[in-house]
This record gives sequence, C-alpha cells and structure tokens, in this order.
Amino acid sequence: MTDVQNPFEMAQCQLDGCATILELDEEIHAVLRSPMRELRVQIPVRMDDGAVKVFEGYRIQYNSARGPTKGGIRFHPEETIDTVRALAAWMTWKCALVDLPLGGAKGGVVCNTKNMSAGELERLSRGYIDAVWQFIGPDKDIPAPDVYTTPQVMAWMMDEYSKIAGKNQFGVVTGKPLSVGGSVGRADATARGGMYVVREAAERLEIDLRDATFAIQGYGNAGYYAAHLARDLFGSKIVAVSDSRGGIYSSDGLDPFRIMEHKKETTSVIEFPGTEPVSNEELLELDVDILLPSALENVITAANAPNIKAAIVGELANGPTTPEADDVLYEKGIHVLPDFLCNAGGVTISYFEMVQNFSLFKWSEDEVDRRLAEKMTEAYHSVVETSMKYGVNERKAAYVVAVQRVIEAMKLRGWL
Ligand code: GLU
Repeated sequence: MTDVQNPFEMAQCQLDGCATILELDEEIHAVLRSPMRELRVQIPVRMDDGAVKVFEGYRIQYNSARGPTKGGIRFHPEETIDTVRALAAWMTWKCALVDLPLGGAKGGVVCNTKNMSAGELERLSRGYIDAVWQFIGPDKDIPAPDVYTTPQVMAWMMDEYSKIAGKNQFGVVTGKPLSVGGSVGRADATARGGMYVVREAAERLEIDLRDATFAIQGYGNAGYYAAHLARDLFGSKIVAVSDSRGGIYSSDGLDPFRIMEHKKETTSVIEFPGTEPVSNEELLELDVDILLPSALENVITAANAPNIKAAIVGELANGPTTPEADDVLYEKGIHVLPDFLCNAGGVTISYFEMVQNFSLFKWSEDEVDRRLAEKMTEAYHSVVETSMKYGVNERKAAYVVAVQRVIEAMKLRGWL
C-alpha cells in the first residue's frame, strides 16, 4: 500500500476503513465520501501599494445532518481545495464525536499573512465575508479561527457580516475577542481540551503526568497553550518544542512563556539560550512520554512512524498522521489520540460561544471549563470503549462513533 498524503484522499481512505467495519451500504458510503456543498471565490484586495491583488478562497460545507455547519478558516500560502475538503470532513466527524448539534465545514484563503500589513489583512478578511456571506449565517454555517486566523480576524469578519445583515450578528463566527461576543476559555480551548484527553489516556496507561515528558511540534495557538497547560495543570516537563524554522531541546525542561517571548522577538523558537537545536523530524522521534503534533498535516508518515518512541501521541493538529503510519503506530502499541478527538476542545468552546451569543448571556470561566472537561472525557471514553468492542485502533473507533451518529441523523431526516 502506498502512503496516502493528499489530505482529502487521506480522509476518504479513513472513511473507507470505517465503512468496512460498519459494513455500510454503498449509497450511504458514497454520500459521506464527498462534501455536500463547495464554494470557490475570488477576493480582490486593494494592497498598500495601490495595486489590486486577487486571492482565491474556499468554503466547504461537508455535512449538515446534525445541525448548522461549523469549522475554521485557514489563511495559508499552501492552502488547496483538497485540504479544505479534508478539514471539512474532519469537522463533521469532530462535532459528531463530541456530540455537538452541529455539522462540519471549513474555509481557506491562499495567502501569506506574514507578508501582509494589518490593513491588508483586514481588507482580505472583510473581502472573504463579502464573497461568502450568502452561504454562511448563525443558523447556517459558522466560521472560526484556524491556522493564521486570529480573534481580530474574527472580529472584522463578524463586523462585515453584521453590516451586510443590518444588525449585530455576533453568532456568525466564533473565536471572537471577549468584548465583541467571545467566550472565556476560547483562546486556549484546543490545547485545554487536548490536555483533558491526555489526562484520561495517561491514567489508563498508568503514566504519572507529574513525571512525564512532552515534545511539542508547532508553537502556534495549540502548541503554545499545550506547553503551558501540561506544565501548569500536571507539572509535566516540556523537553522540546519547534516551529516551521526548527526546534529546541532541553532535558531540564523549557519555560513555555519565556520561549513565547523569544519567539515574539525573533519570530522563532530556535536559538533560545541554553537549549540544543533539534530538527522537526528529530523532535518527532524523541524518547518522550507524550508527543503532541500541533502544526500541520502529514508529519507522521510510513517513513518515520517506526521510529516514534512516545507512549501517547496526542494529535492537536488536524491530519498529522497518514493512514499507513496509523497502522504502524497501532502495531507498536502507541496510544494515539486522533485529531478529531484530541483537538475538539476548540470547536466545543466555539459551540459554547454560539450558545452564549444566542442567549445574550455570558458564562463564567468555571462553567465553561467544567462543561469542556465533561465533553472531552465522555468522548475519550466512547472512543476507548468502541476501540475495544471492535478491536480497532483509536482513530477507527472515533470514526465508528461519529459516522454512526451522522448516519442516524440523515436517516431520521429522511435523506437516506
Ligand atoms: N479550527 C478549529 C478546529 O479545527 C475550531 C473550529 C471551530 O471552532 O469552529 O477544530
């Protein structure tokens, strides 16, 4: 078998595996294998030098049987329609797995935010909404942040949509800043949800997190907060972190906050004083208890999976492990916390944000945190029980739980 690396083919291949386990009808399988609706748009943006640059954007609604579709928007130079299709599929399974009354969607714009001014970014964000507004809405499809889209970007998008609607529409996007309809806990939600799953997994494997070591690939929103929380919640040691330029290692442990300060000053975690350099590839193969791939797709492949030494791989990124690598990790007895389980904390708090926006009421931090922990813990145990029941790896088990829920909704609605 060749290693599948096109993200959408990867998502389809994962679904095919689930279809075999559940002995799905061909028609049902075919419906679930591709998105319900796709939109490709052009976004003309006036750049600071006066020229107009045309960006390409997408919004893909994969399945809305369980409710309005939900999922982030990525601003990335290597965005492709197939990546967005895969991410929209994973959002569908993610929302179903944590049992949110939502379907799945994803958006993307091909752009490099690192070369854009704040003004250009604002015009692009508003331009995206001008291009897709008929397609989205608080009870239709609700975007959110993802790679290189920030709470500020969400605020501009919400404002643009509200202007078009002629009234405040806070519920049209989530991940907004607190003062314009955001929820407490959204900033570190993905990492925090992931840590609640890691906590359950460690208990199951009898790993004492107070003595555990972590390696974290990626130091964006998910990776940075994961480092923080692993240390603050569990007292674990973060021995290595990385970003797109490379990584750093220290057997004594790294201070997540000081590393972020260094990254802000120098644009990278590399060359942090008192650490040894490691490449992204080396970091994945370090002898640690917990490995958190927290950046992009396709980092654990058939080539390096045999060398992974961590006991737990918690996928904070979407799609970091290829299907062939999955089989290798399972044979090695590594406990994989699949992406749409491990990183579901983001969309879970996004959902809480939607509920608060609909009811014009703000929840306390304790309330948000308690409900998040409940959702993540329940989802983890449903995956483990299903994995044991069917004798399959955790990703396949997560698919079995999620896909059955989506099919049930489609059948009840008379779609099948
Ligand atoms: N972008 C995040 C994800 O991949 C969050 C999505 C959301 O909040 O809707 O899960």
